[in-house]
Order: sequence, then structure tokens, then C-alpha cells
Amino acid sequence: MDHKCIACKSCIDACTQGALFFEDDGLHIIREKCNSCGDCEEACPSTALTLVGKWWSSEDLFHDVEKEKIFFDKTKGGITVSGGEPTLQSEFLLDFLKLCKENGISTALDTCGYASQQIYEKLMPYVDIVLLDLKVFDSDKHEQFTGVPNQTILRNAEWISDYVNQHGKKIWIRTPLIPNYTATDDNVRKIGEFIVNNLKNIPEQWDLLSFNKMCEASYFRLGISWILKDEPLMTKEQMEHFQEVAQSTGAKNVKWSGLTKKEGTSLDEVEKEEKRLSAQDAFDHMAKVFKKDEALKLEEKVVMQYNVSGPGGGTWQLVLENGEYKISKGESIKEVSCTMSYDSLESFVGLRNGTLEPIQAFMSGKVKFSGNQAIIQEIGKIFPLGKGN
Ligand code: SF4
Ligand code: SF4
Repeated sequence: MDHKCIACKSCIDACTQGALFFEDDGLHIIREKCNSCGDCEEACPSTALTLVGKWWSSEDLFHDVEKEKIFFDKTKGGITVSGGEPTLQSEFLLDFLKLCKENGISTALDTCGYASQQIYEKLMPYVDIVLLDLKVFDSDKHEQFTGVPNQTILRNAEWISDYVNQHGKKIWIRTPLIPNYTATDDNVRKIGEFIVNNLKNIPEQWDLLSFNKMCEASYFRLGISWILKDEPLMTKEQMEHFQEVAQSTGAKNVKWSGLTKKEGTSLDEVEKEEKRLSAQDAFDHMAKVFKKDEALKLEEKVVMQYNVSGPGGGTWQLVLENGEYKISKGESIKEVSCTMSYDSLESFVGLRNGTLEPIQAFMSGKVKFSGNQAIIQEIGKIFPLGKGN
């Protein structure tokens, strides 16, 4: 629930499970009682309540994804199954991945590695690339931070690495660097040594992901306080330092990504620093590369919607008509030709200015697309991506 609540209490009347109640500070939900029926959302006049998620059959989901195949072919992209943890729904996942592979769609599995080896054995024939999290090398600390020890994850990492090596597939390792948890020299070094020695340096890439605050809104929606909410972002210098530590182990293709703050900035200044990147940067790039001759080739009006999550994000609509374009904030136009969704402002700006590669963006799930593929290809010609334009 968010600030749109007008305290009408219609939702409480609608809830047959007695899962909702009001106090001075607003509406509360007893999650153990909620059966996700959605009646409260139906009854809410202000859209303050929203049921997140949707039930899908593997066939329906595949048919939805299949609509974007032309786009995948054009960008050498594909689908990434992530979560939460996708292996928790392994039977569904198996059916869905099979359908994708039978129809020539590339697949990536984004996993924490904490599933039984039998599950990976079933899934891997239908997966092209595994994005595997190795967060904490010390098993006691892993259990303290995540709730489970890491032996299963490390064993699976070894098995998956051997499997991809033998079957011409790929694995990328990902390590989120969280201050006071995973972001220590010792942890990064030990993960690197594990990659080099136990995984025989098979992983094609090792991504160090700087701590970010994208999950804050989810915690808020679930009414859970987030212990890292006042934790500042990492600095560029810190990320470069960890990259050097990682490279010193001999691991190949160590990259880092994510929003950073300037060295020496205070917590207040971090807020301002986060805002240093602006959606306007992307729109400025678009203005610079705009190809009017290509825009004039469009036979009808096109509306492209950009949904950007996280700090500085929002929704914008681009309208292209008669060789001219206009960008406005919000969702004023209902008939949208296609929609691009970005996990962060950094991905939105990065994809435009070339600091984020399109293949990596789509395969890692940072950017998602829905709608008319032919139009997205036209827009790609009208507003070319990348540094060189
Ligand atoms: S979704 Fe949950 S809270 Fe809402 S009406 Fe149904 S049971 Fe009640
Ligand atoms: S129905 Fe919606 S607006 Fe009314 S009290 Fe419930 S959440 Fe608030």
C-alpha cells in the first residue's frame, strides 16, 4: 500500500479473511491470513492497494515471450529467468525453458545456486547461460547473512562449471558487494581463488555489483524495515579496489557495475550524488543522435513508453509523428506501441550512451521489452544507441 490511501476502509469490508485492520498510522495487513484473493484491490477506489504478481501457465508465458522473438533475434538477446529464486518453481521452469529452446529462444538462468543438483541436471539442457551468485565464501558468515550455509552452492557451482564447459554453454559469476557483509578483501579474494582453482577458471565473466537501494521500495511495500536503508553507496574507488583484488587471484574478465558515490561525500550528499544521473542524460543523448530522415519513414504515429525503476526513475512517453518527436513525463497516452522497462536509471542512461552493452542488458534482465518488435527496430534506427553516435 502507498500514500494514495484515502482511509475509506472499503478494503476492510471486502476482506473475508480478516487480514486488514486500520490504526492511527494507516492500514495494516496480517500476511499470514491473506490468501491473495485480490478482493481488497478490487474494492480500493484510489489504487492504493495493488496485488503484485500474476498466475501463468508455462504455455501462456511462452506465448507472451514468443511475441518478442524477432527482437531477440535482432539483438542476439533472449530471456532471463530470475526471481526471487526461479529454481523454487523448477517443474514450471523446466516446461517453460523447454518451450523456449524448442523455438530457438536463448535462455539465461539467474540463480543463487541453492537448489539440489538434480534440479540443475534437469534444467541445464535448456539453459544457455547461468548467472550464478557467489556472495560470501565463509560458510558460517553465509549462514549468518542469508540463513543457510554455502556448501550446496559451492558444490553446485563446481558441477555447473563442468557442465557448461562440456556442453559449450556459459556461466557468469556475480558477487553483490555490500558494505560490512560481502565487501571485504578477504571475501573477494577467497571467491576469486575458488573460481580459479575449483571452477578451473571456466566462468566467462565475474561481475562485482555495487550495493544499491533498489529493494528499498519492496521492503516498504511489504511493511518490513530494511537494515541497510541508511548505508551509503560504495565509491568508484572502492569498486576499482575490489576489482583489483579480484583480478589479483587470476580470475578472468572481472567487471564491476552499479551506481557509486564520490569519495568523501556524506550521507546527505549521497542522496544528491544519486541524483547526479538523470533521465535527462538519456533524452539529451537521444536529441543528439536523432535521425529525422528515419523518423519520416514511419507510416503512423508511434508511442514508446519508458519505465525506469529505482531512484530518479519514473515513466516517460515518447511520441513520434511526421518526422518530429516529443517526450513527456507520465502515462497520459493509453495506446502505447511498445514499452521498455529498465531496472535502474543507470541502465536507462547506460544503454543509450553505450556504457551498458545491449546484449548484457537484455540477458541479465536489466532491460525488458514488450510490444511491437518491428517498431522497436525502427526506433533503434531513429535513435541509435552507443557512444559513437
Ligand atoms: S488479498 Fe488478502 S487482504 Fe486482500 S481481500 Fe484478499 S485476503 Fe484480504
Ligand atoms: S480501500 Fe484503498 S483507499 Fe480505502 S482504506 Fe483501503 S487502501 Fe485505503
